[in-house]
Amino acid sequence: MSNILEISGVNLSFGGLKALDDVNLTVKAGTVHAIIGPNGAGKSTLLNNIIGKLSPDTGSIMFNGQSMLGVQPHQINQLGISRVFQTPEIYTDLTLLENMMIPLLAHRDGAFKLNLWSRGDQQADILEKAHHFLDDVNLWEKRDAIAGSLSRGDKRRLELAMCLSQEPKLLLLDEPTAGMARADTNNTIDLLKTIAGRGLTMAIIEHDMHVVFSLAERISVLAQGHVIVEGLPEEIKGDPRVKEAYLGGAEV
Ligand code: ADP
Ligand code: MG
Repeated sequence: MSNILEISGVNLSFGGLKALDDVNLTVKAGTVHAIIGPNGAGKSTLLNNIIGKLSPDTGSIMFNGQSMLGVQPHQINQLGISRVFQTPEIYTDLTLLENMMIPLLAHRDGAFKLNLWSRGDQQADILEKAHHFLDDVNLWEKRDAIAGSLSRGDKRRLELAMCLSQEPKLLLLDEPTAGMARADTNNTIDLLKTIAGRGLTMAIIEHDMHVVFSLAERISVLAQGHVIVEGLPEEIKGDPRVKEAYLGGAEV
């Protein structure tokens, strides 16, 4: 299996704080890779480096064999990396269908351009995709509802549909079930399993171990900016170094 993402020797400091300390992490194409670790371990910072919002002080980040250093976030997105944020990044005043239009337009042109609406042939293509990807997450019947009226789980489904509409090669998820009730969490796990089953590569940051062990094929454990252990879920479960990393040596 080829490596879709290769992070080597990445360091990043915020003033005197070393947020990332010689991070090495490889994600194989077609797998679900979880990144876990206590609060403040550097997980979100690492994701922000992958999507180009932050740049490492030293080290390299390769996506499909191409260096992502110095590449603008919207270009990284166009190259095939999409990210799901901790709080669903949706437009709560717009309908579901209108929400779908935004990533579809932005992905193609690098920016949201209102004048595109005059280009009829492209508009039809985009509209068709918007309907298709809404249907894909079982939200098509709610297409004309205002996004702000959705349940937390449905907001996450909408955001996933917005990401999937860009047909990414790598989907990054930062705590996709944060703040969700158990039913919404299970619903999200099922959807992510379906998406993973189609072969989409995912890197997922997650606190909820039920989610991690339901989805991950490989796990990297980050603590104080460094990957302290990497392995199969059964290897990570019960590893004393992982327990140690979580405050009070809580059960993982
Ligand atoms: P995690 O996602 O694992 O909880 P973060 O990546 O958010 O951790 O944070 C890692 C460390 O870097 C924390 O100590 C945090 O306070 C610090 N940090 C994150 N972003 C910034 C920033 N923009 N400026 C200064 N410090 C930051
Ligand atoms: Mg975080």
